[in-house]
Order: sequence, then structure tokens, then C-alpha cells
Amino acid sequence: MAYNDGDHGHGIKRGERYSVSTMEGALTARDRVGVQDFVLLEDFQSENAFIGNLRKRFKEKHIYTYIGSVLVSVNPYHKLTIYTPYIMENYKGVNFYEKPPHVYAIADNAYRSMRNEARNQCILISGESGSGKTEASKYILQYLSVCSTSNDKVEHIKSQLLQSNPVLEAFGNAKTHRNDNSSRFGKYMDIQFDFKGAPAGGKILNYLLEKSRVVHQAHGERNFHIFYQLLEGADENLLNKLNLEKTPDKYYYMLQGKCAKVSSINDRNDFRDVQKALQILDFSKETIENLFATVASVLHLGNITYCGNDKGHAVVEKDHTVQKIANLVGCPFDKLMKSLTHRTIEANREKMLSPLTVDQATYARDALAKAVYGRMFSWLVEKLNSSLTNKDVTRKNVIGLLDIYGFEIFQANSFEQFCINYCNEKLQQLFIELTLKQEQEEYRAEGIEWEPVEYFNNKIICDLVEERHRGIIDILDEECLRPGDATDTTFLQKLEETVGEHPHFVTHKLGDSKLRKTIGYDQFRLLHYAGEVTYSIEGFLDKNNDLLYRDLKETMSEASNEIVKDVFPKSELSRLKRPDTVGTQFRSSLAKLMEILMSKEPSYVRCIKPNDSKMADRFDDNLVRHQVKYLGLMENLRVRRAGFAYRRTHEIFLNRYKSLCPDTWPRYYCSPREGVDKLCRYLDYKDTDYRLGKTKIFIRLPRTLFATEDAFQIR
Ligand code: ADP
Ligand code: MG
Repeated sequence: MAYNDGDHGHGIKRGERYSVSTMEGALTARDRVGVQDFVLLEDFQSENAFIGNLRKRFKEKHIYTYIGSVLVSVNPYHKLTIYTPYIMENYKGVNFYEKPPHVYAIADNAYRSMRNEARNQCILISGESGSGKTEASKYILQYLSVCSTSNDKVEHIKSQLLQSNPVLEAFGNAKTHRNDNSSRFGKYMDIQFDFKGAPAGGKILNYLLEKSRVVHQAHGERNFHIFYQLLEGADENLLNKLNLEKTPDKYYYMLQGKCAKVSSINDRNDFRDVQKALQILDFSKETIENLFATVASVLHLGNITYCGNDKGHAVVEKDHTVQKIANLVGCPFDKLMKSLTHRTIEANREKMLSPLTVDQATYARDALAKAVYGRMFSWLVEKLNSSLTNKDVTRKNVIGLLDIYGFEIFQANSFEQFCINYCNEKLQQLFIELTLKQEQEEYRAEGIEWEPVEYFNNKIICDLVEERHRGIIDILDEECLRPGDATDTTFLQKLEETVGEHPHFVTHKLGDSKLRKTIGYDQFRLLHYAGEVTYSIEGFLDKNNDLLYRDLKETMSEASNEIVKDVFPKSELSRLKRPDTVGTQFRSSLAKLMEILMSKEPSYVRCIKPNDSKMADRFDDNLVRHQVKYLGLMENLRVRRAGFAYRRTHEIFLNRYKSLCPDTWPRYYCSPREGVDKLCRYLDYKDTDYRLGKTKIFIRLPRTLFATEDAFQIR
């Protein structure tokens, strides 16, 4: 067997059809299709060789390549025939290296380890926007739901797990320049399995939804899909109820990007899928109505405009828009009107209603829209969780799937990129710790002496961001909480005072003189493990504060729409403590994520985008080079190669090469380990070239293996 686009059989010289496509099979075809595992690259320190191998394979439609047990995936930007039930079947329960690299192999390996060793697993998928993370996570989820046994109940759980995707994508994804279906939130999902190995439930955690998109979209980008789906897909009746018109151009929150229609997206069909999915996920008719009413109320909010009266106070221009919102949310019109134009301030223990300026009112309107949408999204995740929750006591193990934004370096980088890149620093740290730990454990288990590996530990950068009292997040919080004259500029000054000496922090005033010249007065630069990023401080305070006037919260808490009421609880109003800032919340949710991931055995999928034009068959060397750097793949390979490039069980090794040695051919009358020992001596392997572990042979350099393979071929 092999899949159509697979590596099988190429270049086998002996004329016999090689029926099972293996790593060893592809060794023979390495000139044309490259090596299936980067550890087999002769010059593993050369970035050019690395990229050359990726390119070679990509041109042959082999989008997957290993670095040891890490899967590197290059987005093909067209449908491949490698995701069929037949191919899934072929990856079931086979040895990781016996088939061409595939995301199914990663999924299968995680599943087997979970079943056989009863260890919780996680699969971490990373890469920049549009590199194929979400697609990979969907293939994994599909594979995991196919690879287990089934009955009616299990089928229901499987379909619920799979159907959570279209719902989350409708509300959390959007068209961006980089990806027509870009996830604007980070997602971690635990898939729970019962003692028979069948899916039993799931749990989703979401991270940092890009709420700013609700109120602003760049030219050529869209708001979240659900808005367009609703207008395109809802029937007359529903639209009437929601007081919506079919045309996106009527809504300020939808028209800014000027691209409501996208050729690759069918909003009408997608809306039907979402409705179907909501039903499968046990959403009641009433809940669905409330959900769409909430979405509609956000659109109407965007259409509120203000003018200033003679005192400069904001006045709503068209009352009936506010009336529509009050109807959908189910709150008193007067109260909503008031809280959209005024705020209560306390002076000398007295409460006073103070009118807002037009700018303030516009700010408050957008803040409310963001809050309603953002909280609704979190509510949605919780609601999905309550459907996916496994109530059965027989639950056993889990496989976690992490699909989260990769490192971001844009022309202009702001608070959002700061958070995302901080997240990637944390993941890199986890990666270092766990990879080294895994290597070490394997050496120990095999009884081979551990050889320490040099690597860059990025903990120093994590500390710079997150350390209590003297890290960037705390300094930002301090400025956010400081009454008086705190601004983005004073924040920058505080940074310079506090972390100015840090080797990974540079501003126009501080640090290496060459670097300094390229930094603006309102910027700071962090030297991330993956590269330098210059952040513009504008908006840091505001975005970290994420302020919503209390009056608006109060109005929303009186809503009769169950969802709105739920997400604006009265209890929030009586809380004395300020809510945590966005940065602080993110830091603690990341800390929890790290804990979750730490307790599991990880697998990695590293996704790469081959070009910026979403085109098939185009491989842009420079673009790929950047990503190889940001993903830390060369470092990854170096760590993996520091010890031994190749390792296989004695049986597999012996079965392939036993014919090269008279002591093991046609039969060997000893243990596989002893057989391999005889074989290696016969082949004149030097002592430094290899080690025999308890169950595996470790070969230091690919060249040793290639020589053996070539001998095998010409025999
Ligand atoms: P990310 O989640 O990393 O931002 P996506 O997974 O959404 O990226 O992929 C972006 C687009 O690239 C998809 O909508 C799809 O068109 C294409 N794509 C990604 N992976 C594959 C794949 N394995 N096969 C075919 N097309 C893919
Ligand atoms: Mg995605």
C-alpha cells in the first residue's frame, strides 16, 4: 500500500515493487524527493539544505517531513488525495516510520501511546496565519474519531466533537489578508476517551479572541463570518425578527473592509451548516434565537451615530437604532439610551451623571459591541463544553489539541502581537523542556549514556515579559492603574527605567547603538528567540485596560435575553476589585495552559506557508526561510541530531539489512539485539558510529545508514 501522492517505490533499483512505503524505502529516492526525515540530512546545520529538502518534497507534493518525531507540514493550497478513509485505515496501528510522514501518523502515534501506556497526550500545532494549523487539527480530529470502535452513543459524541468546529469557526474566524478563514482566537481542545478507547467527550479552552475586529476591519478584510452568514443565510422571518436587512453595506461594522463577498466562501451554505451543528450540539430553539439576537444587536450598535449638542455633549442621531437594540437585548430603552450617552461618576461620595462627548460616546459604543461579542463568544465555548462534557464515569485518558497563533511580525506591531509572541515564547520554552526531557528519557530507557546538548534557553525572555513586579506586563498594569497622567509614553519611560538593562530589550535610547537607530520614539523592541520585533506603544494602555463603563454593564445586566444576562452578571457590579487587565488575564491563562500541556506527552506539528498568494505549487524560499527561523526548526534539528540521527528497533533494522551478513542471513539464531550486533560488526561500523540500546539501535550519522542502504541496493 501507499497513497497516490506518497513516497512509495521511487528509485527502487532492484525492479521489485516495494509494497510498503517506508522510511527506508525513501532513503533510496533521496535525490529526487528529498529525505523524509531531516535528521537524515548530511549537512544538518545548513539552512539551505533544510529549505532545499522542503522545496524538493513540496514540488513532488510531499507536504509532510519529519524532524525525528516532529512533523513539518507545508500548506499545499489545493486538495490532496491523501485524506481518504482508505489512507486513514493504512495508518492505523502501524509503526510511526513505516509510512510516509503524515498528520495521521502523528494522530495515530498519540492515540496508540495513550491506549498502550495510558498516558495523556497533546498535539501542539503551530505556524503563522494561513500555514494550515486549523486544517491539520481537523484532520487529526477526524482521524481520532475514525480510529476507534463505535456504537450509537459514541457516534453521537463523535459528531458533536466534529460539529463544534463549524460553530467556533463561524464566530471566531474571519477573512484576513493572510487567510480567508483565519482563526482569530487560540484554541485548546481535550478529547476524552473511555476505557475502550472510544471518544467520550471533549473540553475546549479559548484564548484571546481578537475583539477589535468586531468594530474595525482593515481594507480587504472582514468581520467574523457569522455576521455575513446571518445576512446571507437567514430566512425572511428570522431577518424580520432581528430587524436586519440583507445588505452588509447597511452596517458600519461590516462595510469597512469593502469585501463582504469572498469567492472562496459560501456564507449561505455555511450558515446552514452552523444551524445544523447547533442542533446536533443540543442548543434549544430559544437559545439559538437569543444567540442570533445578540449577534444582530452588535450590528445595530455599530449603526448608532452621535452628533454634539450646543454644549458638545453626545446625542444619538437616530433613536430607532437604539430601540432595535433594546428590543433584541430586552433592556429598557431609556436606560440604554442614557448609558450610551452618559456615565456615572463618583465625587465626594456622591454619584453624578456626566454627559459624554461625541468621541467618548463613540468609544463607549465600540467598547460595548466588543464586550457583548467577546463575552458571547466565551459563553458559546462554555455552552459547547456543556454539550461535550462527558458525564460518564468510565472516562480514561485524553488527547489535547492545541491550535494557536504562531509568531507574528508585521510592519506595525501592537499589544496583540505582543501577547501572541509572548505566548509563542512560552510554547518554545515548553518545547525545549519537553523535547530534551523526552530525549533524555529515551536514552535512559535504552540504557545509553546521555550526552548533554547546548541550546538557547529562552526563559530569560519569558521572564522579561511576565516576571512579577519587574516584567513588562506588570509595568503595564501599574501604568494602567495609576491615577492621573499615565499614558503610553509614560509606560515606555517606565519600561526604560525598569527593564532598560535587559539584554533582550531595546529602545531608541537604550541598547546596542546600531539597533537603536532603527527604533522610533514611540516604540520598543524585543529580541525574541525567533527574531526581533518592534512594538509600537500606541494603544497599549487602552487595550490592556479594555474598559467598559459601568453604566453600560448595568444596563446589560438587566437584559431579558438570557445570553446577554448571563454574560453581564449583576455580581460583577458589586465587585470592589478591578477586573484583571487583559495582559494579566492572558498571563494566567497561559500559565494554566502550560500546566495542562506539561502534564501530557507532546507531539508537534509545525506548519509552514509556502507563499503569500495562497497559490498551489509556489514555493517562496525567503518566506519559508523566515518561518523555519521563527519556528526554531534548525535548533530543533540540532538538538535532535546532537546525539543520534537515526534510531530503530532492532527487529526493524535487522529485518531490512540481515541479508548483508552471513551470520544473520537467511536466518539468525539469536535475539534481534545480538543479530544487530553481529550485523554491525560485519559491516565494520566504528564504535563511535552507533550504540545498541535495549530495544533500539542508535546511529550517529546518516552517512553510516546511507552506506548500508546503498550496499543493500546493489547487492
Ligand atoms: P491557519 O489555521 O494556520 O491560519 P488554515 O488551516 O486555516 O490556516 O489554512 C488556510 C487555508 O489553506 C485553508 O483554508 C485551506 O484552503 C488551505 N490548506 C491548509 N492546509 C491544507 C491541506 N492540508 N490541504 C489542502 N489545503 C490546505
Ligand atoms: Mg486557524
